[in-house]
Amino acid sequence: MKLKDIGEFGLIGLIRKGVPSPGGEVLVGIGDDTAVIKGEGGNCLLLTCDALVAGVHFDLSYTPYRELGWKAMAVNLSDVASMGGVAQYALVTLGLPPGTDTAKVEELYQGMGGLGERFGVRIVGGDTVSSPVLLISLALAGEVREEHLVTRSGARPGDSLLVTGTLGGSGAGLALLKGGLPFPQGMERLVRKHLAPLPRLKEAALLVANLKPSAMIDISDGLALDLSHLAAESRVGAEIWKEKIPLHPQAKEVARFLGRSLDDFALYGGEDYELLFTLPPNQVQRAKGLLKETGLTLIGQILPPKEGLVLSEEGRRLPLVVRGYDHFSK
Ligand code: MG
Ligand code: MG
Ligand code: MG
Repeated sequence: MKLKDIGEFGLIGLIRKGVPSPGGEVLVGIGDDTAVIKGEGGNCLLLTCDALVAGVHFDLSYTPYRELGWKAMAVNLSDVASMGGVAQYALVTLGLPPGTDTAKVEELYQGMGGLGERFGVRIVGGDTVSSPVLLISLALAGEVREEHLVTRSGARPGDSLLVTGTLGGSGAGLALLKGGLPFPQGMERLVRKHLAPLPRLKEAALLVANLKPSAMIDISDGLALDLSHLAAESRVGAEIWKEKIPLHPQAKEVARFLGRSLDDFALYGGEDYELLFTLPPNQVQRAKGLLKETGLTLIGQILPPKEGLVLSEEGRRLPLVVRGYDHFSK
């Protein structure tokens, strides 16, 4: 069997089978946004890593090194946010073609360090290797109070499903970059959303300090795919009310401009790095008040497992088609 036959998530399942399941001080192992290790005095250690590879995650023809560094930090911080935690230390592995301009490496670190500093993260080490393509891999260590920890697996039927900010902006920004056309005025903001996303650490901290989200994940692969992960880990079904999805205001314009389906951005456009989470319905108003500035939208609900994943649109209920980026299958 080849990787392309089982896909990225089949591979993760395979790896999961081969390593011991969590136990003892390991509260959460493979399969969540970060690993969670029980520490002293009610604190838990969070560990995560994520890599960006040229030609796979980004294209150097339209990605400045500074933004690339920022994004490498942002995607990892977003995983820490989705556990309700804070990040503290980073290790950086760089794979570099020997012809890389040293000034570009400095720019990369400026972007990475700049965003890290904003959220109290210190770069404390790493590794540098020669590589045929540019590769940047970050590992983060952070922490969370055990009572504030939110995994993917705690959603219960009847819980409300909410998402921060807006969706589709990053996907629309990427589509513009890939289109290679001069894009209409005012759309630079979308491109910025794709190249330099802002992780929702502040929002996560507010949520876990004041409320009790039952499950949370960050949207890296698209709303449909990330919801499917949350539902699978929680062993529940879920329903999205399509009309309620908070689309980025310019995503519609881009869909029209490029002749793309809006679903590509709303349901399947990844890399928005917003938080998707579940809450008992009686906490929804309070949550909206807490996240007034960023915006928070009720987009659906958690269902019993036998109902599966449902997309409701204009009163019709259809099975939610789950697709998104998969590293190994087409
Ligand atoms: Mg994640
Ligand atoms: Mg990744
Ligand atoms: Mg990760």
